[in-house]
Amino acid sequence: MDMGLKGKRALVCASSKGLGRGCAEALAAEGVDLILNARGAEALEATAAEIRDAHGVDVVTVAGDITDGDVQAQVIKAAQGVDILVNNAGGPPPGMWTDWNRDDFIAAFDANMLAPIALIQALVPAMMDKGWGRVVNITSASVKAPIPVLGLSNTARTGLTGFVAGTSRQVAGSGVTINNLLPGIHATDRAVSLDEGVMKAQGITMEEAKAQREATIPAGRYGTREEFGAACAFLCSDKAGFIVGQNLLLDGGALNATI
Ligand code: NAP
Repeated sequence: MDMGLKGKRALVCASSKGLGRGCAEALAAEGVDLILNARGAEALEATAAEIRDAHGVDVVTVAGDITDGDVQAQVIKAAQGVDILVNNAGGPPPGMWTDWNRDDFIAAFDANMLAPIALIQALVPAMMDKGWGRVVNITSASVKAPIPVLGLSNTARTGLTGFVAGTSRQVAGSGVTINNLLPGIHATDRAVSLDEGVMKAQGITMEEAKAQREATIPAGRYGTREEFGAACAFLCSDKAGFIVGQNLLLDGGALNATI
């Protein structure tokens, strides 16, 4: 299927590894030029070089923490006129609902709600002027089914989801779609760190922790960044222009729900 993306430009935040990288690779495979961001410059440059070599697209990098206002300004400058925005950042740490203070909540809001909103506000108006644009926010399955130890994630991502629900309907008439991708468990560094949390909390091995979490997934395995990236590329394609304000769950069937 021709996704109609050749020659477009995309900003993919938090994309040196994991799901953000999966989205960047899938877009590059469709001929999309990229602006990539992550905090660690070394991994970011390595990912950029691999994507250039594999797909022959232009890749610009902006290293820095996407929650930092100065870094956001640099990223926005590099991304002027982009057709596609993929919002992403690291997830908040696990913990107990009784332990989180105001600073913990603000940090989660900055990463998983306010940074994506700031980038939408900065980049969507030019997409509207052009009459075409795509925004995909990487959120979490925790938006549909709360994960008790990830209360900071449950809270911040639901805030972003509410913003997208209203805003997507305000920009759709200008040819811009905004949708969310909700990962269940995927085989990335984040999944390894959450496996470690289960290992430590229950005094079991990493293999046992992973097997325990895999057993909660009807597909019987973790998702891959390639599968996740393919869904992102489809939502960014010209075939997906009628999909507005939706929350697409990629969880191998883990959420036991009829709708
Ligand atoms: P990951 O494998 O840890 O990769 C995170 C990527 O984001 C890395 O490239 C990292 O590079 C970059 N990054 C993290 N924080 C950043 C920041 N503040 N500014 C700029 N770049 C940043 O994580 P992932 O599994 O791909 O997860 C992506 C998102 O999906 C996270 O919000 C996660 O909570 C959520 N999610 C993941 C899963 C899962 O099973 N994997 C499930 C549900 C939700 P640097 O460290 O160098 O910055």
